[in-house]
Amino acid sequence: MVDTQPIAKTTLQSPLQQSVQYLKGVGPKRSDIFGKLGIHTIRDMLFHFPRDYKDHTRIQKISEAAVGAEITIQGKILGVQTRMARNRKNILEVFVGDGTGTIAATWFNQPFLANKFRVDNTVILHGKVGAYKYLQLLSPEYDIIQEDEFPAKEGGVVPVYPLTERMSQTHFRKIMKLAVFQFSGYIEEALPEEIIRKNRFVSINEAIRDIHFPETFEHLKNARSRLVYEELFTLELAMALRRRGIKEETGLSFKIGANVDAHIRNLIPFTLTKAQERVIYEITEDMRSSKPMNRLLQGDVGSGKTVVAMYAILAAIANGYQAAFMGPTEILAKQHFQTIQKYLEHSYVRMRLLTGDIRSRQKKDILDQIQSGQVDLVVGTHALIEDTVQFKQLGLVVIDEQHKFGVVQRLKLKKKGTCPDMLIMTATPIPRTLSLTLFGDLDISILDEMPPGRPPVKTLWVPADKEMNAYRFMYAEITKGRQVFIVYPLVEESEKFDLKSAVAESKRLQLEVFPTLRVGLLHGQMKSAEKDKIMMDFKEKRYDILVSTVIIEVGIDIPNASIMAIVHAERFGLSQLHQLRGRIGRGSEQSYCLLFGNPNSSVSGERIRTMTRTCDGFKIAEMDFRLRGPGEFFGTRQHGLPELRISDLIKDFPILKKARDDAFELVSQDPQLIMNTHDKMKQKILETFKDRLELINI
Ligand code: ADP
Ligand code: MG
Repeated sequence: MVDTQPIAKTTLQSPLQQSVQYLKGVGPKRSDIFGKLGIHTIRDMLFHFPRDYKDHTRIQKISEAAVGAEITIQGKILGVQTRMARNRKNILEVFVGDGTGTIAATWFNQPFLANKFRVDNTVILHGKVGAYKYLQLLSPEYDIIQEDEFPAKEGGVVPVYPLTERMSQTHFRKIMKLAVFQFSGYIEEALPEEIIRKNRFVSINEAIRDIHFPETFEHLKNARSRLVYEELFTLELAMALRRRGIKEETGLSFKIGANVDAHIRNLIPFTLTKAQERVIYEITEDMRSSKPMNRLLQGDVGSGKTVVAMYAILAAIANGYQAAFMGPTEILAKQHFQTIQKYLEHSYVRMRLLTGDIRSRQKKDILDQIQSGQVDLVVGTHALIEDTVQFKQLGLVVIDEQHKFGVVQRLKLKKKGTCPDMLIMTATPIPRTLSLTLFGDLDISILDEMPPGRPPVKTLWVPADKEMNAYRFMYAEITKGRQVFIVYPLVEESEKFDLKSAVAESKRLQLEVFPTLRVGLLHGQMKSAEKDKIMMDFKEKRYDILVSTVIIEVGIDIPNASIMAIVHAERFGLSQLHQLRGRIGRGSEQSYCLLFGNPNSSVSGERIRTMTRTCDGFKIAEMDFRLRGPGEFFGTRQHGLPELRISDLIKDFPILKKARDDAFELVSQDPQLIMNTHDKMKQKILETFKDRLELINI
């Protein structure tokens, strides 16, 4: 019998902490292989979940075996024989009968398997039926049923594990059965009882048993949803605590009255969109409140984030505070600086630009002015994070293009003030599933409306045989005075090759396709000053066409560029294509995005189709996320999201929402997790987030 009583928690080390070597069948050599799978302790073993399941609940009769079909049968071993084929291959045949017929399980060149099969043992075999002189299953999966086996003797739902080579499913399953049989009872319940009751969850012990060896698919479902919930609940609880921690600090409480509002609006030369109005409202509410603002503003490229940021900046300055505005690159920081400078032409605001390329002499002056409060607004790059930058009274931090910076950098800039408000902007729309997890500690505002008068970009796919037509079209548009981007991919493994192709292509385009036009080239190996110069030349119309590698991805505004051709579009990710496309469509003219290339897989085809159908960044992000999966969407590690072992953020979205609501409710009742009933959960969070603890205060 299993001892289901958890051992006394006070002094004894839990058996779960023991090495897997403690399990029968795992010696030093095996434990090496286990180590590669991340399995060191028995607990690790129990939490090594199957990646799939086989349905052995329906055992078929051998008499039903149809050649070519997959079948699962169960029977007694009638005979075992090894022989040598003419080609000197060793053949092992295990004859199995179930009363309705006989079939041979056949393996080539694995003579050692012979010892495993004993006449009269019961086996389950799963494989594809073939026919030789008799019915055959070639290298089937096999399960030898022991008399004392646990839990289901017959078939059932069979787990399939993520494994490395040198470890067979059958063998691993056997060790796992042992581990589950002996130790799943020792796992302690971490979920608070009220949550288990409310959701009618099975116990953790049952869940662990059934995630490995469920009797039915119903059992499996119950086990899985509980484990998914627990994983997401832990994550959301951490988010809730982090958010709570931020909210508990006392921040600045700005006064933003009708006067200030009117003053700011006077500087804006257009009518704000409804979305901008809504977001400005959300931001000013945050700024008025004495709780620090921690808000993420999402909006597609061109949706008008800058002016929203400027509103917040001016509100802070009107209250006598300084503001910092950080962009991801020098060129973008400069662009923000210039844009805002233009808006503020007739205002008293004192602003400075601080980037890495500023000479040390001048830099010292700027730093002095920031420190003494002679500067109201500093726009810059990550140079702003350096220790030498000290503010007199930093009241607002705006960070553009969040995903280029990590959480830690965010905090570093924030620490330069005493709890300044924080606005983070991103042009990469984040699928809701991710914004609830990765950015679960932020409030979110969304600009989901484009300013009027800008027709959406038309996107067309250009297959190889239509390229000449596309060139002709570009030529026609250029003669109307427009400009064209032609983008080449730069794939890391073959940087040189791609560079060559961009260089060669720009020559070819200049000499053979557009001899009368001016073709410029911009690539990643150029020095940053050189790149800036070429961009400026293009902006000032000294080129008609700019051939470039993807470095213009986050780039500057060139409203006159109305065509973007993307070569080998199939090599780009969906979000990347969308970002690139955002470089055009900034003027009042109709713009076109031309996707060159031949999709070589269903995924790349789907990407190109999605691009031609929608300009909605959120739809695209959602699709990208689906196509790529969360892991790749953007490097999740750096964002402080722990690895998810069982949850699928797309499939399990409903559970995520539920877990989030429950977690936030729990934190509102017990902000420090001091109640007894939350003790285990607290421990679990500390373990899961141990290397990111500074972000949570419990
Ligand atoms: P984002 O930073 O979101 O990519 P920007 O703030 O750069 O977008 O805005 C894109 C362009 O749209 C800018 O030229 C800006 O002046 C203009 N713009 C922003 N809001 C409006 C509006 N409400 N009406 C008209 N033009 C606007
Ligand atoms: Mg912008």
